[in-house]
Amino acid sequence: MVRAEQVWKWFGDTDVLQGIDITVRPRQTLVLLGPSGSGKSTLLRCVNALEKIDSGLLEVDGERVGLRTTGDGRLHEMAPAELCRQRTRIGMVFQRFNLFPHMTAIENVALGPRRVLGLSRDQAEAEAERLLTRVGLRDKLDAYPAQLSGGQQQRVAIARALAMRPHLMLFDEPTSALDPELVGEVLDVMKDLARRGMTMIVATHEIGFAKEVADTVAMLDGGVIIESGPPGECLVEPKEERTRAFLSKVL
Ligand code: ATP
Ligand code: MG
Repeated sequence: MVRAEQVWKWFGDTDVLQGIDITVRPRQTLVLLGPSGSGKSTLLRCVNALEKIDSGLLEVDGERVGLRTTGDGRLHEMAPAELCRQRTRIGMVFQRFNLFPHMTAIENVALGPRRVLGLSRDQAEAEAERLLTRVGLRDKLDAYPAQLSGGQQQRVAIARALAMRPHLMLFDEPTSALDPELVGEVLDVMKDLARRGMTMIVATHEIGFAKEVADTVAMLDGGVIIESGPPGECLVEPKEERTRAFLSKVL
């Protein structure tokens, strides 16, 4: 489903990803841990083709991200429309919710399906209502973002991503901008999603979530995965001193 082999990404002289290898199988959740600047967001942005990798192989659903192979076996950059098609299959949720402030919750969720998937207003709003209900916001359909708490806004953002019927969901520290008492409600929605079999990559500092939900945990430091494996190993008996140091800071 997601396969990275020796993925490198640099900005100028800075090597931000230095030979990343990851595999995320269908219905599995990979949690990315690591200190600030270790490359978590950059890796997620590469998976979503928001950044281009400089070297290595990166595939989603067996297809190279941002590249296509022509009949003669050569790789070409995807045309914008094709890139768009690839990206609609990948949902992304950021630290900041980025909802449209002038639209209600239901309008925020229904917009993408109407514009991109070509659903009618009625179809898109019925689907949006179903998804908002699923994230516990049945009674907030007509609320504007400013009338919602951070946790509620983030749940609208998750519903909005799901409305595009993604095969893969990427979360970049989805709870780190929230007041502590609002973190749980967002993590619960993500846990539910994992239980329903969504394939996910989650950058987070929520170790409890990683222990409960992750199939695999990957610990990044300086653009390198220094340790990865099942949470029961990596988080309970880490082999690397740097993993231990990181965990002792976030726990
Ligand atoms: P955080 O936990 O703070 O979100 P992160 O693990 O997500 O950190 P990244 O945002 O991926 O880290 O950044 C990794 C490194 O890449 C940092 O040193 C950052 O300064 C650098 N970087 C990221 N984007 C760019 C860019 N567009 N141009 C130059 N350097 C960049
Ligand atoms: Mg980041």
